[in-house]
Amino acid sequence: MLELGSMGKLAQRLSFVNFGDICRGCKVNCCRRFYAVLLEEEEGEFDGAASVVRTRLGRVKTLGGPGGKTCPFLSREGLCTIYDKRPFDCRLWPLMVYYDFEREEFIIVLDHECPAAAEGKIPQEMLQRMIQTAKEAILDGSLKKEWVMKYTLSPWPKNYQILERVKPPS
Ligand code: SF4
Repeated sequence: MLELGSMGKLAQRLSFVNFGDICRGCKVNCCRRFYAVLLEEEEGEFDGAASVVRTRLGRVKTLGGPGGKTCPFLSREGLCTIYDKRPFDCRLWPLMVYYDFEREEFIIVLDHECPAAAEGKIPQEMLQRMIQTAKEAILDGSLKKEWVMKYTLSPWPKNYQILERVKPPS
């Protein structure tokens, strides 16, 4: 059994995110169908449980992986067994931060693969706080451009709505 320490600094900023009943009855179950990309600061924490996804800008480490590789921390009942220690990407979903290579800026997107997002079931107050947290992490440089670029290039359905555009800090 993997011993997990305290969560990373960026994940901590999203400790207010709790979907509770929002996910009840979801037929998609993001943790089974998709995967989470670990921040570099989280890789040590999940060493031994992570998979590798390669992009043209380098590799990222993930929990689960493309092609239906399920997160190792998902119970048989489809529940997260490390919910209080889950990484940044899991906490931010169904928001994601991508890089727009053409316009050279970050975009904060809402992924419509999540039924709760597509159907507007996520409370606006929590969603706005999540967007603000992501924006601050971009602007203070703690969400690194190199990582976001690799994140953007990792295989994903890319069925999203752009909520915010953020110029990288100069
Ligand atoms: S896809 Fe959305 S509604 Fe379904 S389990 Fe994941 S976060 Fe919850």
